[in-house]
Amino acid sequence: MLGGIDLRDFLEGPWAGRRAILADLDGCLLAGGTVLPQAAELVARHARQLWIVSNNSGDTGATLAARLAGLGLPLGPERLVLAGEQCLLRLAKAHPGARVALFAAPPLRALARRIGLRPDRDCPEVALLARDPGFDFADLALLMALAHRGVPVWLTNADPSHPGPDGTPLPETGALWAALAAAVPVAPAGGLGKPAPDLVETALRLAGAHPAEAVFLGDTDATDGAAARAVGVDFVLIRRPGTPAAAADGPRVGAARC
Ligand SMILES: [Mg+2]
Repeated sequence: MLGGIDLRDFLEGPWAGRRAILADLDGCLLAGGTVLPQAAELVARHARQLWIVSNNSGDTGATLAARLAGLGLPLGPERLVLAGEQCLLRLAKAHPGARVALFAAPPLRALARRIGLRPDRDCPEVALLARDPGFDFADLALLMALAHRGVPVWLTNADPSHPGPDGTPLPETGALWAALAAAVPVAPAGGLGKPAPDLVETALRLAGAHPAEAVFLGDTDATDGAAARAVGVDFVLIRRPGTPAAAADGPRVGAARC
């Protein structure tokens, strides 16, 4: 890790000249729907080097690219390496045409059909848990029943939360998994979100870059930094705006003000 810095410091530093710039999204370039300072400048100046490596498991590259374009961050879908999409592609490769119980947002459910998977909640061969904003009590009960029956459950990413626009944590896939695991002791049958190295390896392959030719920007050392280090890519910790350097990677707890 090379220290917690602002995105402006990165843009003015030596790493911006690397052949491939791999960047986390939430908390690094975006906070919810808010574009963080200098993110647009990073995209404008380094679009040809830039690859987003995100544990996002609610979008496909196409749906996220459309949203980013609306926010003034024009990046093609091929530049977005996302945990949910990549996990589905891997699952389809491991289990071609499988009946899958999907706990996922509409973009991933549509992708599953396009790549030949067959959504089936009654008699699935495998289940996949992604960041599903519609996940409710009935979904949890069904997922528990499937896991109890021995249906393998894939987990797109283990993040318990990601920061909202004001730093308030928003629930992520790992929080849904924690609810399952609290009731049924089960381990994920597959998955590839950071801190696993898979997404970084995919981005390097797409970029045609050696690890020494790349740099990874992220706001979370435990996931972004660990994934980068596992592949031998230099990691730069980006300090979220308004976050003291010493607390950039830790939870913030304070008195609630309603
Ligand atoms: Mg992040």
